[in-house]
Amino acid sequence: MKSALRIKIACSHPPASRGHLSTTFIINGEIAVDAGAIASGLALREQRRIRHVLLTHAHLDHLHELPQFLDNVQTGGRSGLSIKPICLHGEAAALEPVSRHLFGGLWPDVLRPAIGFASLAAFDLRKRPALSLGGFKIRPFRTVHRVPTVGFLFERTNGSVAILADTGYREGLLDHLLGAPRLRFLAMEISYPNRLERWALDHGHLTPRQFLRLVEPLLSRRPRLQIGIHHLKPAFAAEVLREISALRSRAPGLRVLRHGDRFFFNF
Ligand SMILES: [Zn+2]
Ligand SMILES: [Zn+2]
Repeated sequence: MKSALRIKIACSHPPASRGHLSTTFIINGEIAVDAGAIASGLALREQRRIRHVLLTHAHLDHLHELPQFLDNVQTGGRSGLSIKPICLHGEAAALEPVSRHLFGGLWPDVLRPAIGFASLAAFDLRKRPALSLGGFKIRPFRTVHRVPTVGFLFERTNGSVAILADTGYREGLLDHLLGAPRLRFLAMEISYPNRLERWALDHGHLTPRQFLRLVEPLLSRRPRLQIGIHHLKPAFAAEVLREISALRSRAPGLRVLRHGDRFFFNF
């Protein structure tokens, strides 16, 4: 059986500055990966279709629009209130600081409200290592970062896409994706220019050169693999964009993601 997988890219909009540090990936309209642009980057009707948010890790640029999003989808519509909670999926190490800091003082506790109903339900990914949502198996896998962080592989028997947010460099980090069924799309971060390689290593981020080393095994199998780059640090965006352009002969399917980009795959 074939089924479509559509990805819409939402970046902080209007972008604070060139580089779009906060990116949210919308899968088939109802699953979001990260929540850094889940409110400002989407129309209200698009926000209201989302039922699941997959969190890569607990850094603010990846989750800071969660409160506004919940406010937007919890209220309004025909009945005025939606009592069906949004499902937040993350590792316990990511959910705990969200619960303790974001919803434990900076915003009403939407997980355990004193009044009304919970607009958010949290699920530990470790307890469900292969999640089934929207007809896809979703497998979290570890990346290298300053806090526990995962990427997500969306797969069916005859096709897959991988979405990664923050990751540092470790040799062979992506080699397990060689075994993914027909990888069609890969979202990756590049944050710093090549001259800051040491800084990038220490902070769990990538430069264009480190990125290329990680994806070369995948490109040798699929030279035209579509790869979408995000998370450019705005202060270095112009320099990083030039270095990314220089990689295009090695990775012809490479592009820097922009707000509103859409990808469609038929598996
Ligand atoms: Zn991070
Ligand atoms: Zn980040």
